[in-house]
Amino acid sequence: MLIDDYNRVIDYVRISITDRCNLRCRYCVDGEFPFIPHEEVLSYEEIIHFVKICALLGMKKVRLTGGEPLARKGLPYLISELARIDGIVDISLTTNGVFLGAKVEELKEAGLKRVNISLDTLKKDRFAYITRVDVFDEVITGIKKATYSGLRPIKINTVIIKGFNEDEILDFVRIAKKWDHEVRFIEFMPFGDTSLWKSTDIITSEQIEEAIRHEFGLMPSENIGNGPAKMYDIEGGAGRVGFISPVSTHICSECNRIRLTSSGMIRPCLFSDVEYDVKTLIRSGKSDEEIAGFIKSVVKLKPEKRLEMGMIKKCQRNLRSIGG
Ligand code: SAM
Repeated sequence: MLIDDYNRVIDYVRISITDRCNLRCRYCVDGEFPFIPHEEVLSYEEIIHFVKICALLGMKKVRLTGGEPLARKGLPYLISELARIDGIVDISLTTNGVFLGAKVEELKEAGLKRVNISLDTLKKDRFAYITRVDVFDEVITGIKKATYSGLRPIKINTVIIKGFNEDEILDFVRIAKKWDHEVRFIEFMPFGDTSLWKSTDIITSEQIEEAIRHEFGLMPSENIGNGPAKMYDIEGGAGRVGFISPVSTHICSECNRIRLTSSGMIRPCLFSDVEYDVKTLIRSGKSDEEIAGFIKSVVKLKPEKRLEMGMIKKCQRNLRSIGG
């Protein structure tokens, strides 16, 4: 088992398989942006090699993210190879959902267990504004097809941003109430090359929860998978709502993960720009034992917690290269 210096069991790796994305969300990027050259991005074989070593060390869960993971060709191949690795019991995907409708059956057949879809608005024109691409209908089709395919749970991740979508909080809860989906509200975090994020503008989970409680009864519910989300059942409803509060609350004691960036850096803490280069070890033909030793030492360097809220600085990298 991988245990860090603060007794946290690290059994989950989030892998950004590409920094490329078909959307240009205003809170993530400022218009066009340079991509990492192809040769610097880990190949599928290199990712599989890395996960095999992680599994030997006790990792159990893998999430594929990006950029937009469905924008990279051959994803079902990667999933099927990861699904074959002894010890890996859960393979999930975080996607903007645009290509999901066309690919979900193939992904499921390959071994995908669950999917998280990012959706910040239920209004078509707002969606086109925030993402700069008019593909709202495709996302809804993607969510429906994923639902009918039987993948469970379907999680919808929503970032609430002041002045943009806080008036839609209750609409999202209605969606969760009607369908057996989990809607998880994520606090807007200090990432990226945009100037949108201001600590004074954060709508906290507490504020969102309070707004919901005016209309809906919420009962505490178990968080299957031990992630940082605080989950609630909705009275009289099929689905659940959750709150992920990386900005207003220290969720660090529950952190069970490391990240692998698309360029092959291990990032032990989302909020720290300190990263460790595993790609060079993989590409220079180091033995599995040496790479395993490196991963273990990086886990030991995972910080206990991030800075206090008032001291959070904007991270240098944006989430599309780290893997949101
Ligand atoms: N393309 C995939 C998607 O849309 O889910 C995966 C990558 S995207 C960077 C992952 C998630 O990060 C999305 O849900 C997005 O809303 C979220 N995200 C991006 N920038 C963020 C920020 N500054 N604060 C909070 N969440 C953010």
